[in-house]
Amino acid sequence: MSFPLGRDNCAARPARQNALDLMSQAPASPARSRSLDWTNVLFLGGYHLLLVILLPIYLIQADVSASLVWSTAGLWTLCLLAITMGYHRLYAHVTYKTHPMIEAFLAFWGTVATQGSIFSWSHDHRIHHRHVDTDLDPYSAPKGFWHSHVLWMLRKRPEINPRIIQDLWKRPTLQFQHKHFGSLMVVANTLAWAAVWAITGDPFGAFVIGVLLRMFLVHHCTWFINSLAHMWGSQPYSTEHTAVNNFILSILTFGEGYHNYHHTFAGDYRNGVRWWQFDPAKIAIWTLSKIGLARDLKKVNQLTIKRRLVAADRHLMMERLEELKHRIDVDSWSQRVEDAAASLTENLNGLKTASDKLQRLKKETFDNVRTAKAAKVGEMRAVRDETIQQMRSVRDEKMAEMRTARDETIQQVRDAGQETLQQMRQRRDEELELLQQRIDELKATVSDEMDAWKEMVHLLLETPESRLAMIPVTA
Ligand SMILES: [Zn+2]
Ligand SMILES: [Zn+2]
Repeated sequence: MSFPLGRDNCAARPARQNALDLMSQAPASPARSRSLDWTNVLFLGGYHLLLVILLPIYLIQADVSASLVWSTAGLWTLCLLAITMGYHRLYAHVTYKTHPMIEAFLAFWGTVATQGSIFSWSHDHRIHHRHVDTDLDPYSAPKGFWHSHVLWMLRKRPEINPRIIQDLWKRPTLQFQHKHFGSLMVVANTLAWAAVWAITGDPFGAFVIGVLLRMFLVHHCTWFINSLAHMWGSQPYSTEHTAVNNFILSILTFGEGYHNYHHTFAGDYRNGVRWWQFDPAKIAIWTLSKIGLARDLKKVNQLTIKRRLVAADRHLMMERLEELKHRIDVDSWSQRVEDAAASLTENLNGLKTASDKLQRLKKETFDNVRTAKAAKVGEMRAVRDETIQQMRSVRDEKMAEMRTARDETIQQVRDAGQETLQQMRQRRDEELELLQQRIDELKATVSDEMDAWKEMVHLLLETPESRLAMIPVTA
């Protein structure tokens, strides 16, 4: 999540990097990376300083009205939703598609949020995912809280590499937003100030609280995802990166706190994947899809998520066994964990393949029956038309004979069609039944194995020391 106000506007000119640089995302030279980005330093430093000076002055000389609090909270909500739903899930990860009207709305409030253009934000964020926790990661968390939170923005960054945002790069409206971001940001924030002023009748309050304080809150809430959401929380889906799940950060960012899930399955339009997890952006996108304003919502399959959880558990249990190696028979326990993990993974794979096949088959047989039916009807119509034509052209005395012939032909075709459809239906039903049996069997196996797995996880990872006595001691 970025804020590169000072990044060069390269919409109007081609990128200067050569193909090798483009592919490798080579970092800037040390000398260049050390130089300060003065636009960001002055803007960020300047408005923080202004807020520190003006906020006490305002609070001393005026009472904060309820309308000022509510209108500022409204702006804060719209800005964060636009960053979460728009900048992050729509543009940086393309997890759904939406109506141009909604895009304009999200782009406007994203501009009010003052976090740079859609291009620069998505560019840095895609690099963050691709090179997470390394030197190439713009806001690499292992470099410390303050670096990932804000300091990274105060240094000059390499120019935008259009290949990284190729899908966005060709869109003229986004080019426009990028090219004129500075002016658009000032205009959008002036409009926001005017709106709060109109609601409260308090121009100074609208500026200090509605613009400066709101900007401060929106910035730091978003920045927490780069800093705290890589440091403070749980890692149920993967320990291969520093990203964590944190409920409090989800409240502050309208759903972005489930960052461990997000870094593991970045293509999912949801971050809080469980129904009870606080992710208003997920609900908003889903609601838009139900009223026809969003489509192609990308979602990771439940069985794939389960498989990932088993792999993460396995990793943690093996680490725990390594710690316990002087106290228990680690080899036999390691074997037990490996065997259970392998069997569970295999059965989850089988279940996913069978479920996918069932869905495909259901769709295919439906399509086939419909096509076959249409073909038979067409054939019958052609035969009937032909026969009628012939009947018209022969003499009256042949009429009766022809009628019989026509009826016979139609009857034959009808029988043939009926038989084929009957056979197809029977074949489909048999196949579906077999597949359903297989799925039921696999579900029962996976359910048993999951119970055993949970017991093992509980025993190895969550048991108080005293219960370790349950684990056989090495002879
Ligand atoms: Zn991250
Ligand atoms: Zn992301």
